[in-house]
Amino acid sequence: MNRRRFLAYFGIGAAGSLAGGALAHSRRPNDVPRPRQAREASIGEVTTPTSTGMQRIIWSVDTEEPVAAVTFDDGPDPAFTPRILDLLDRFGVTATFMVMGYNAVQHPDLLRDIAEAGHEIGGHGWKHLNLAEISPEETREEIEHGNRIIEERTGVPIRVFRPPYGRFDEDTVRLLARSRRDLVVWSVTRGMLSWREPEQISSHVLSALGPGDIVDLHDGIGRATFNPRSESARRIRRRREDELSALPRILEGAKARGLRLKSVSDLMAAWQGPSTR
Ligand SMILES: [Zn+2]
Repeated sequence: MNRRRFLAYFGIGAAGSLAGGALAHSRRPNDVPRPRQAREASIGEVTTPTSTGMQRIIWSVDTEEPVAAVTFDDGPDPAFTPRILDLLDRFGVTATFMVMGYNAVQHPDLLRDIAEAGHEIGGHGWKHLNLAEISPEETREEIEHGNRIIEERTGVPIRVFRPPYGRFDEDTVRLLARSRRDLVVWSVTRGMLSWREPEQISSHVLSALGPGDIVDLHDGIGRATFNPRSESARRIRRRREDELSALPRILEGAKARGLRLKSVSDLMAAWQGPSTR
């Protein structure tokens, strides 16, 4: 299968320190020529600081090894997280849970259960806001507060962050670069949101799944957490139940094919260098 390869390296910045870059932009007189690098880096950065360093945006990982990652977003949630932990334990799979900060505060026992079972914990924002649609200040709060809340409770640094809805902008990338966290998206989903049959969902996931892929599943309801009696919350809960019903078949199918499911960070350890497509 000539699968597209998605691992991207983004070099961000190179225009000096954070505060220095912002200051230079706001105070420099118009008639003073600016270094080429600084001028290029200032595009779109009027309100946001420049960062430095490398940032990885990962949809999947280039590898020939029979490994892939499975991830669960939006939890923890008592309706889903315990059952998912049981299934992962039964199949001997270590996954990555992209935890929503607010839910970690509501369910510290579940957060502890995830960590104690040896799964990786990544960030998924504080209140599950769309980072592409909010101000740089709100983005900072959403990422940093969410991550800090989780790290304080687990004592383990967060290395991977998944933006809610998979949406992000340059502020997101820059903030994550500053904190040396990888931005992790996904390459395989549960398929059409209207699909109700577990068989349909598991067949789709297994047909799309290959070495290096990152599967995006859920153990919570994201933004609907704040409106639990709404029709949309009920709809998303039903959708999550369907997804969970498909999970045993997905884990079984991957195993039968010899594909080992891991956490994102463990999958990244199997990366075999930049893709040549
Ligand atoms: Zn989410």
